Parts: sequence; C-alpha cells; structure tokens
Amino acid sequence: MIRDRECPTCGSMQEFRRLHDDEKAAVRERKGARYFVDDLWRCTAVGCLTYFPAGRRHEHGLLPEKFRKEEAAKE
Ligand SMILES: [Zn+2]
Repeated sequence: MIRDRECPTCGSMQEFRRLHDDEKAAVRERKGARYFVDDLWRCTAVGCLTYFPAGRRHEHGLLPEKFRKEEAAKE
C-alpha cells in the first residue's frame, strides 16, 4: 500500500509505504518496546529516511542509516 504525503525532509510530495518488520524493530530499539510501530509510514524517496505515524507528521523521525536506499549504481 502506498500513500502520497508531503515529506518534511524532502519538502515535496512523496510516496510513503508502511515500515517493514526490520524497520519496525529498529524504531522499537530507539523508542522503546512499547512504542506503537504498526501504523508508521516511511518516505520511499532515494536517500530519505523519514518516517511518521499516520496522520501525525509532526512526530516524524529518521530511520537508522542502514535503511537508506541508495541510488542505483550507474556504470
Ligand atoms: Zn522524504
């Protein structure tokens, strides 16, 4: 499922998707085991790590660096 939302980091409309399980686990590591991660959405733009809970964009955070999507290598 994809939603179009304005990304506070990109400063433009981007496609957001729900976090994958490994991303949720990483957020829990930072926010605590009781943090609700089942309705978090992340920006799918290349290089962007922004996520936020549905409808609460001001609570946005950044995923750990390892989840950064690099631009495809060009040869
Ligand atoms: Zn973004």
